[in-house]
Amino acid sequence: MVSKNCFGERSLIIGRFQPFHNGHMDVMRKCASESENLIIGIGSAQYSHECNNPFTAGERYLMIDEAMKGGGITNYCIIPIEDLKRYSLWVAQVRSLSPPFSGVYSNNPLTRRLFSEAGYEVRDSPLYNREIHSGTAVRREMIEGDKWRSLVPREVAEVIDCIDGVQRLREISGGE
Ligand code: ATP
Ligand code: MG
Repeated sequence: MVSKNCFGERSLIIGRFQPFHNGHMDVMRKCASESENLIIGIGSAQYSHECNNPFTAGERYLMIDEAMKGGGITNYCIIPIEDLKRYSLWVAQVRSLSPPFSGVYSNNPLTRRLFSEAGYEVRDSPLYNREIHSGTAVRREMIEGDKWRSLVPREVAEVIDCIDGVQRLREISGGE
């Protein structure tokens, strides 16, 4: 796979970002510093209003964009990517939606396998304090109280407040 084309070198990182949290922010900072351009793919883009996927792709876009700008990072773009329940075609689906890229950051075994089979350079994505910084932990804290605010960038908390996200999550999870 060509590592650089006439528009520069780009790397891809994909997550669901439900919501975008401080662990995501740390990994974006690292990956953006290593790449000319970082493409952030919002995975499972078609889902929202579910306990594990409470936020729409557009809301997640806003969270990521505001947090990246707040962190002074400018060399990125964001693309929503719907799931395709046919793994053999998934890389083609990503390619059809994304600007060209050469490297992919991921720890997910399936994602790593699919992109390396397609000829991409797959890199480890560093994890920051995973016990505390996970989407699952943030959603749990959102249901239980106010502690979630310290787990996400300030801009993300502002977006969640603006869309009444905590109340949404509490209602769709039935308080559980
Ligand atoms: P969930 O618990 O909802 O699955 P998550 O924290 O695993 O959320 P995802 O939205 O599934 O986050 O996104 C996965 C991507 O985010 C992966 O590339 C993963 O390596 C990265 N990531 C998640 N948590 C961290 C963290 N603490 N530090 C660095 N990267 C992280
Ligand atoms: Mg995950």
